[in-house]
Parts: sequence; C-alpha cells; structure tokens
Amino acid sequence: MHTFEFIRPADTAAAVATAAQAKTAQQGADVRFVAGGTTLVDLMKLNVETPARVIDINRLPLDKVEATPDGGLKIGATVRNSDLAHHPTVQRDYAVLSQALLAGASAQLRNMATTAGNLLQRTRCMYFRDTAMLCNKREPGTGCPAITGSNRTLAVLGTSEHCIATNPSDMCVAMAALEATIHVQGPKGSRAIPFADFYLLPGSTPNRETVLEPGDLVTHVTLPQARPGSKQVYLKLRDRAAYEFALASAAVVITIAGGNVTHARIALGGVGTKPWRSPEAESALAGKPAEAGNFRKAAEAAMRDAKPQTENKFKIELAKRCLAHALQIATTS
Ligand SMILES: Cc1cc2nc3c(=O)[nH]c(=O)nc-3n(C[C@H](O)[C@H](O)[C@H](O)COP(=O)(O)OP(=O)(O)OC[C@H]3O[C@@H](n4cnc5c(N)ncnc54)[C@H](O)[C@@H]3O)c2cc1C
Ligand code: SF4
Repeated sequence: MHTFEFIRPADTAAAVATAAQAKTAQQGADVRFVAGGTTLVDLMKLNVETPARVIDINRLPLDKVEATPDGGLKIGATVRNSDLAHHPTVQRDYAVLSQALLAGASAQLRNMATTAGNLLQRTRCMYFRDTAMLCNKREPGTGCPAITGSNRTLAVLGTSEHCIATNPSDMCVAMAALEATIHVQGPKGSRAIPFADFYLLPGSTPNRETVLEPGDLVTHVTLPQARPGSKQVYLKLRDRAAYEFALASAAVVITIAGGNVTHARIALGGVGTKPWRSPEAESALAGKPAEAGNFRKAAEAAMRDAKPQTENKFKIELAKRCLAHALQIATTS
C-alpha cells in the first residue's frame, strides 16, 4: 500500500518551499500539490501517481476572481470550476470560458475541481492510467502501446512517435483562445507564462508536460480585457451528451465589422496533445467575409497538419465540422 505525508502549509511561501524539494514537477514527482483532488486522488488510487508528500493548498488565499487594473480578470488557482463558470463577469465578457467549464465533467466534479487543477489534469489515455501497461508518459522509455492499440480518442495534432495522448481539458481550450497568462510562484520568485508557452509537445519526453519546475505553484490565471463586441462560442462534440470528454471541440472568439472578420482567436480540444490554438485558422479568417465557405477554409487550415492514428481518422473531419459550426453559431447569434 502506498503511504504519504499530508501537509497543510500556513502560507504560499511554505507550500512552495516544501514542493521545491522535489526532483521534478512532472510525472513521478514525489511532492504534489492537491486542490480539488479529482485528478490526483484518482491517479493515486491507481498507483499512477505515488507522491511521498501531498500539500493541501485549499487554505491558501488563492480563491478569488477579481478585476485587474487594465480591465482584465484575475482568477485564483483554487477558484472552483463551478464558481468560475457562473461568475457574472465571466458569463458576460468571457462566455466561451463559462461554456467550456460547464461542458466539462459533472456538476459535482465542477464543484470540487479548481482552475489550476484543471490546467494540470492528466490525459485519459487508458494505457497511462493502467500500471499493468507500458507507457512512455508514465515510465519513460517503456514504449507507447496506444500507437498500435486503442487510440480512437487520442490525438491527431502535436503527436510524436513516443506519445499520442490527448489533452482532455475543456477549460484550457477556452483559455487558449482567450490568450490567458498563467502566474506561478516558485523558489526563485514569481513569473508569468503566456498560455501558448505553458504546455510542451510530447516529443521524446512525454513525461514532461509543462514548463513547471519543482516548487512552482500556480497562483492565478489572468485574462486580458475582453474585446468589445466579440462573439464567443465553445462547441464540444462527444460520444454522449454529458459527463464525457471531447472527441473534438472548438473555442471561438471572433469580432465582425461590416460583414468581415476583424479579429479571430481559435482553439481546438480533443484533437491535440495540448490545448490547440490554431494560428492557421485565425489567418485564414482574417479580413474575410464571415460566411460558411470561409469557415470551412479556416477549419481545413486548422487540421492541415493532422496525422491520423489507426482508429481516429474520423476526428479530422469531425474537428473541421466542429470548428466550422462553432464559427457559424458565433457569427449568427
Ligand atoms: C469522471 C471525470 C470526468 C471528467 N470530465 C471532464 C471533462 O469532460 N472535461 C474536463 O475538462 N475535465 C474533466 N474532468 C477532469 C476535471 O476537470 C479535473 O479532474 C479537475 O479540473 C482537476 O482539478 P482539481 O482541483 O480536482 O485537481 P487536483 O486533482 O487537485 O490536481 C490535479 C493536478 O494539478 C496539480 N495542482 C493543483 N493545483 C495546483 C497549483 N495551484 N499549482 C501547481 N499544481 C497544482 C496537482 O498537483 C495535480 O498534479 C473529469 C474528471 C473526472 C474524474
Ligand atoms: S499515448 Fe502517451 S499516455 Fe498513452 S500509452 Fe502512449 S505514451 Fe502513454
């Protein structure tokens, strides 16, 4: 049986100092923060995560949603997904984020799950979650049975010969489109990481998923000021209508003037090894009339580099239709 020490630090500095003693902040870390526990505790029960020390961050003062002086929003690391989804400012100015959060998990899970925990949730790849199986992400160098095995739900963008696992988050797809910034407090001080730089592609080190270092505590996430008049939609396609991860999803933040697209931010979920911002789709839309033909061209551009696995070729067309339809909904609502 796995045993571990449970720690309740008095303040953020104490939490960071304890976690800084770990050798890594990635898979296999022997010190882990716990927030809602809806990812970590599951993985500890499965022996996929076996930390020697678990640091409870729920009592740290990181649970506020506040306006920033520049008109944006600051979201504390331990703000619950349900509180964030129903926050009036989020519903009014960042609707894509509210919709994405409400499309995730179940009401009970959203009541526990936190902002930082959602950022750092792990893949649902079945081989990763089963210690009887080989898995490069769980145990580097052992192989990736998903490539020739069960990969229907896995990624088609950003994969490598070492890992094809999908990032499962809905919230993160919206945050990618909203160009969020992740704020971290570590042993050497604080730093702000643009969302686009936070996640790593699997390459030859799929066990390393983010740029976090030992001791790094996510303290909050900021969103820039909402663009006036922007239309926002999160569309999620999945095997059943609720309580299921995305096969494909799209987050759209788009502004139209005189019938033409003046600004577009696009991200995809369910298809990438990380929350997948698509500059290709954004460029394809820039300055173009907001109409179905151009939405399809943007979707084609977004999936141009997709690489199907043995069981998930269908995701490429699904993701294209998902994005084109999300654009249609956003621009006609
Ligand atoms: C049955 C089920 C269905 C689900 N369906 C969906 C879905 O459809 N869509 C979706 O997006 N998600 C889904 N989820 C995932 C869920 O959203 C995540 O489990 C949740 O967001 C994790 O948040 P948490 O606070 O519980 O994280 P925890 O389990 O507490 O932590 C997760 C990870 O983050 C780290 N961590 C937590 N806080 C910090 C911090 N401040 N700084 C640094 N590291 C930190 C922990 O060390 C741990 O490694 C589902 C989960 C379950 C169990
Ligand atoms: S896809 Fe990644 S997580 Fe899944 S078995 Fe392969 S290496 Fe492991």
